[in-house]
Amino acid sequence: MEFQRRGVMLVIASPSGAGKSSISRSLFQQDPNIRLSVSVTTRARRSDEVEGTHYYFVDVPTFNRMKAEGGLLESAEVHGNFYGTPRAKVEEQLAAGKDILFDVDYQGTLQLYEKCRADMVTVFILPPTIEELRARLERRAQDSVGTIEKRLRNARIELDHAGEYDYVIINRDLEQSVQNVRSILASARLKRERQLDLTSFVKDLQQQIDSL
Ligand code: GDP
Ligand code: ADP
Ligand code: 5GP
Repeated sequence: MEFQRRGVMLVIASPSGAGKSSISRSLFQQDPNIRLSVSVTTRARRSDEVEGTHYYFVDVPTFNRMKAEGGLLESAEVHGNFYGTPRAKVEEQLAAGKDILFDVDYQGTLQLYEKCRADMVTVFILPPTIEELRARLERRAQDSVGTIEKRLRNARIELDHAGEYDYVIINRDLEQSVQNVRSILASARLKRERQLDLTSFVKDLQQQIDSL
């Protein structure tokens, strides 16, 4: 039998362009049990982004209202835009045994950590080199030159925190990185704390021994 289990909050962070969106996308394709926490953001939508899939795109007053009403589990200003995690779905999905992937920055990780530490596993994605990081940001071709420079500068700050995550992956080969995240998730799922009916299962085994 499989234990009923509580979902894992899998937090993946990285400097912009290191590859966390690519890793996440591939993870979803391979594992139907993972849900993405879709953030709200005040950033402009990129041409390839879909409302409600990548983000909920909102204006600043809407964002502020959601925050004031307690609708956000965490929020932060990143690269001059506001981002936040809608609260309602998270608890519902964890209880239903769904794993939730969070693509949040360091400030967001800290805020989630304060509220949800027991449910969380955190992974930091590193680029192999800064030259490669710049090349990836340019290849993605979604941001202006100025924005790319800003993201590279911010990478320095994000990198300061790499040592505070549970796991670290250098994203050289994308498929290998995805496999590494899957291994981390597989072991997190098996944690004793997440096995909801462990006690009754063990008791049942003991009763079977008693009745031998
Ligand atoms: P529905 O998506 O038509 O069921 O209505 P919602 O009230 O859930 O969302 C309507 C719009 O509100 C979305 O398209 C978003 O632009 C915006 N929105 C802002 N924050 C959130 C949020 O946390 N959850 C949802 N679902 N929508 C949000
Ligand atoms: P992030 O979400 O961290 O900002 P993305 O996933 O958008 O980064 O990746 C940035 C760019 O780098 C994309 O064009 C993506 O296709 C590319 N990329 C991601 N991982 C790798 C990798 N291991 N090798 C080569 N290119 C990669
Ligand atoms: P992008 O604009 O490239 O999609 O995201 C920029 C940064 O915002 C990334 O570092 C990403 O992790 C962060 N981010 C996205 N959504 C959230 C969120 O809901 N909360 C926080 N704190 N950061 C977020």
